[in-house]
Amino acid sequence: MNDGSRQPGADRNVDQTGGQLAGRGTLSPIELDTVLRTVSDCVVILDGSGHVHRVVSPGQSPAVLDALQTGGIVPLLTPTSARAFWHAAGRARERGRPETVELSGSQGSPRVLSARLQPTGDGRLICALRDVPPAQAGQQALDARFEIHRMLNQASYRFINIHPDRIDTAIDQTLADLGSYTGADRVYVYQLRNRLLTNTHGWCRNGQEARVPAFGRRPYRSEIPWLIRSLYDLELVSIEDTSGLPAEAHRERGNLLQAGVSSMLAVPIIYSGTLQGFIGVESIADRHAWSDEGEQLLRGAGDIFASALQRKRSEQRIFQLAYYDRLTGLPNRQLLRRHVARLCERGDTFSLLLIDLRDAGTINDLLGHDVGDLLLKAVSARLRSRLPGGNVLARWGGDEFMLTLPLGTLDEKDVLLHQAGELQSMLAEPLRVAGHELRISCSVGIASHPRHGLDVDSLLRHAELALRQAKLSLDGLMLYNQGLQRRAASRKRLETRLRAAVDASSFSLCYQPMVDAVSGELHGAEALMRWKDSELGQIPPDEFIALAEETGLIIPMGEWLLERVCSDLAMWRQAGLQLPRISVNVSGHQLLDERLATLLENLLQRHGLPGASLELEITESTLMEGEKCKLLQHLRRLGISVAVDDFGTGYSSLSKIKHMPVNILKIDRSFIEDLFIDRNDRAIVIAILAMAHQLNLRVVAEGVETEQQLAFLRESGCDLIQGFLLAHPLDPDGFANLLRTGLALPTLFTPETLQ
Ligand code: C2E
Ligand code: MG
Ligand code: MG
Repeated sequence: MNDGSRQPGADRNVDQTGGQLAGRGTLSPIELDTVLRTVSDCVVILDGSGHVHRVVSPGQSPAVLDALQTGGIVPLLTPTSARAFWHAAGRARERGRPETVELSGSQGSPRVLSARLQPTGDGRLICALRDVPPAQAGQQALDARFEIHRMLNQASYRFINIHPDRIDTAIDQTLADLGSYTGADRVYVYQLRNRLLTNTHGWCRNGQEARVPAFGRRPYRSEIPWLIRSLYDLELVSIEDTSGLPAEAHRERGNLLQAGVSSMLAVPIIYSGTLQGFIGVESIADRHAWSDEGEQLLRGAGDIFASALQRKRSEQRIFQLAYYDRLTGLPNRQLLRRHVARLCERGDTFSLLLIDLRDAGTINDLLGHDVGDLLLKAVSARLRSRLPGGNVLARWGGDEFMLTLPLGTLDEKDVLLHQAGELQSMLAEPLRVAGHELRISCSVGIASHPRHGLDVDSLLRHAELALRQAKLSLDGLMLYNQGLQRRAASRKRLETRLRAAVDASSFSLCYQPMVDAVSGELHGAEALMRWKDSELGQIPPDEFIALAEETGLIIPMGEWLLERVCSDLAMWRQAGLQLPRISVNVSGHQLLDERLATLLENLLQRHGLPGASLELEITESTLMEGEKCKLLQHLRRLGISVAVDDFGTGYSSLSKIKHMPVNILKIDRSFIEDLFIDRNDRAIVIAILAMAHQLNLRVVAEGVETEQQLAFLRESGCDLIQGFLLAHPLDPDGFANLLRTGLALPTLFTPETLQ
């Protein structure tokens, strides 16, 4: 297509008499004669390269004729119209059909001209030029305005109800329309974002694609201050000649000249009174006097783009809120699910690694939630920066992260475990967070596609199952296998049975005595729950208590137990049997239940028991989770004492316990078990005893099975003893008998051996 940069000059063959058109082309002399006799216009014949071959004028347009004689067609027209003329000529040739185009005359020429361009078939064009009388010109101005409205309507229509994903395409299409209409070479949208000017959309006339935009990614306030200021002030900047820009616009001139731009029109994109960017229309080789209509069209487009881009930003913000985690900035569960679904659909081989930070909860408790949050941020930043490309990392919730890793065809067990092991080592390196040097470990559950599941749901379920098992394993790693599935199925079955047992209150309990380590006097008894299912048989408490905690069933079970304990104690007391207190194990869930204190108060009242007849055992890790102090203070007011159970297995420090209303420490059974196997355990027990006594806490040794253990504990100053050496847990009748007959104490307690 002729791009207007070629401006063929005038031709010598101007025939003012309406003489013969002798042709080399396909028109016969008779045809030509007919043409010339019938037209009242100025007829110009252009050759294949666009030069004026011949002009035939019947005489009505002397001004036109003069101009044609001296300079050809181009000087006759405004630059915009000249371009429009050549574009129409190109189209007529391409399509082999006549084209009509309305043109504005340059100064000294008729104001409006109408041109009809007829291709002859051999590359030549017959062009009939006609002056348009003023009335008709008015009509044409109206038509032009109508055309602008039509184009703007079309553009607006394009954006109505458009899906945000398609806004960019719609902007590009509209830029193409603007380019064709204005006769520009390139049309761009530049947006101002984070202090940078960014070229976000663009259209180029054929042949102009290779050029770079005049204003690339740069800080706009310092790099193109004049243009930005002018857009704020003037609303529209029309640069007809780049080299004629004022001195203060030297940066802009430099940019434009470097990009080869001769003329430019910039229209601001303003939303809510703020400049969001601009549309830049550029002409490369030509100096271009931009028409009023073109400016009007661009202004309208600027308004349309402003609201469309704003909408896109809002949608992006909404998307960000809906699909990204606020704290870490990582994709959230929903987005990861979508991603995994896509990978499954594509049939990719990949692994899903579900990562659980083992120590995050403790760090939250010990150093506060702010440090906990910073830790999660630091972990996600480390994972993000160190992981190879091609993976997606998401925050799965709390302190869990999910990672997808492409696998190629190697979804071998070793490869998967190796990946997860590397991840663990990476996370094990110390992290500096808020002045603390933190070391964290993690458990990883792994499932891979397609081996361990074909769809999102099964894969995620299997990764979760694997993680659950990984948390229990020594190395914290677990690859999904069918065994886990079976275990999950049996767990489900157990849960169903447990629910039924809760409904029918079909639990029982037993009591295990605790005695003074020196005198052998009965201190109290620990109540321990038992469950024998009609189908599954006796289930160990460790198993069903964990499940009851996970499912929340521990709440009704705990209530049942407390009721039963209080009624047993009241009954025994009425029968004259002496039992100072009963200790009851209370789980974290129960402590979170606000009704617990009231429940205990009512129970004690109803059964006529003093608060001191109850002791609550709270495991060390539960005690350290969150703020339990208020509840414990309440219990203390009721006279109920608190024991820290399984001490030594959690993360508490005695200095922390010092601030809690706690009366007793129960050293975990594992230390007692290993007293004569591991010297460290002996040292730990001695240290716990010394420190606990400094804090006025009494210490119970759990799981005492041998006289040797008992002797060591007594020597070390342990206050209370519990264990099979004294008695196994007994059912209520058995325990009542024991209360009646008295406990058969080991020989160590005989008077001779007592100091
Ligand atoms: P725990 O609170 O540490 O209870 C002590 C456990 O040690 C009991 O196991 C008891 O039977 C066992 N034990 C006592 N002396 C010895 C000994 O000399 N050698 C050995 N090997 N074991 C001894 P049990 O009854 O199986 O309970 C296990 C755990 O289940 C309890 O540990 C407690 O954490 C939980 N549990 C039991 N009943 C309840 C309950 O009613 N509520 C809650 N929340 N947890 C309970
Ligand atoms: Mg206990
Ligand atoms: Mg214990």
